[in-house]
Amino acid sequence: MKKIEHIGIAVKNLQTSNLLFTSLFGKEPYKTEIVESEGVSTSFFQVGPNKIELLQGIVKENPISKFIDKKGEGIHHIAFEVDNIYKEIQRLKKEGFTMIHEEPKKGADNKLIAFLHPKSSNGVLIELCQEIEK
Ligand code: ZN
Repeated sequence: MKKIEHIGIAVKNLQTSNLLFTSLFGKEPYKTEIVESEGVSTSFFQVGPNKIELLQGIVKENPISKFIDKKGEGIHHIAFEVDNIYKEIQRLKKEGFTMIHEEPKKGADNKLIAFLHPKSSNGVLIELCQEIEK
């Protein structure tokens, strides 16, 4: 893994939270994007070298609403950038980690993504992401 790519925060209302985080960071999100495959709407803030992703569920069954029901709003996942997501998934499986996605899928912000199951990483939900070459 190369570095933390972004930190994901689960929110109930993206519009309200965009305003809140805009006043917190002193700047607006650089993009908002719907991720159909996950049933979520997202926005991204650039804070110095770091990115913060806000996520809101927009369909009936989605991972963000489920998370908020259980734990409330707050930090949802930490995403790490990798060079080769296919190789990294194989490596982590060999190390005994449980993947939620054994095959990468298209995520927000032009990335291939895969999540590890938090039960195999001390309750921390970890996302792997690799930039899709244009
Ligand atoms: Zn993410």
